[in-house]
Amino acid sequence: MSADSLTRREFVGTATGVAAGAVLAVTPARGIEAPAVHIRPAGRNAAVASGNGLRAVGKVGELLAQGVDTLDAAVEGVKIQELDPEDTSVGYGGLPNEEGVVQLDASCMHGPSRRAGAVACLEGIKTPSVVAQYVLLYTNHILLVGEGAKRFALSYGFKEEDLLTEKSRQAWLRWRANRGTADDWLPVADTEQMVARPTGTINCNVVNAKGEVSSVTTTSGLAWKIPGRVGDSPIIGAGQYTDPDVGAAGSTGRGESNIKVCGGFLTVEFMRRGMKPTDACLETLKRVVAMTEQRLLDERGRPTFSLNFYAINKNGEFGSASLFPGRDGPPTYAAFDGQTAALHDCAVLYDRRA
Ligand code: ASP
Repeated sequence: MSADSLTRREFVGTATGVAAGAVLAVTPARGIEAPAVHIRPAGRNAAVASGNGLRAVGKVGELLAQGVDTLDAAVEGVKIQELDPEDTSVGYGGLPNEEGVVQLDASCMHGPSRRAGAVACLEGIKTPSVVAQYVLLYTNHILLVGEGAKRFALSYGFKEEDLLTEKSRQAWLRWRANRGTADDWLPVADTEQMVARPTGTINCNVVNAKGEVSSVTTTSGLAWKIPGRVGDSPIIGAGQYTDPDVGAAGSTGRGESNIKVCGGFLTVEFMRRGMKPTDACLETLKRVVAMTEQRLLDERGRPTFSLNFYAINKNGEFGSASLFPGRDGPPTYAAFDGQTAALHDCAVLYDRRA
């Protein structure tokens, strides 16, 4: 996008003849609006997602071309991961809590209707993103949790199923056996080091040619979490956020660190002030570092956890940033640019972990 497609929203003074040196009060030209850099739609479809979202953004591209709504397309995209037993970070086959129970979190926002929906600690339903969308579509509420969220889903005909696959159960058993030496579980061989707590989630943010925006995030959350723990994914403004005038953003990684900076919202706000999506993601990561407690910082003041942000503006520009590169280089994120779905390198805040 060229710089001149970003133009300052016009403001008008409220008074004439203000004394020299006085602060001129300003009012938006049209009604009550957040002061913003105005981002015009570029007339193309686009999507950005976490690195496990290549199939999701491909699906979104196909659906947008058929005129499908941005949120419907985003949910169809992330459903691919939710239903995939091999993705142990999302939906069916997700890694369970410390008691071996899979508890899922999801949220979504729909720009055109300015609505939001979410579920947290949902058990037994494979597609929490769809349940979150039902909360958005059919209720006066935004967030349903636990047993209530499950009953809500069952009332719409969702099936209750066992979400723990053999693969996830075996990983949980290895973690339980190895998590400490002072308990009654005897250690077992574990090449995958489940004690390191694998993380994962899918976030997908979508814009269509008309400039309509939506976002969704869905996850099984932090592996081995305390039962009842809710991460950032179902928190509107943290796990994902859509502003119909600006764009959308979302996150994967250590949810507690994102919740404290309202990272989805903050990233969108940085774009509102004129930042490109990648810069907005990096700026949010800086805020995360500033808000990190000492016990989670290494001796060089760098976080000991991982966190990623993904963002798209109404113009269809997208980007992503992570705290650190991985062992084999920068982490990747998935994007659809109007033509093709591909993986791209994330920007990184630090060139390496300490
Ligand atoms: N953000 C998720 C959570 O904290 C986990 C993840 O993305 O790895 O629940």
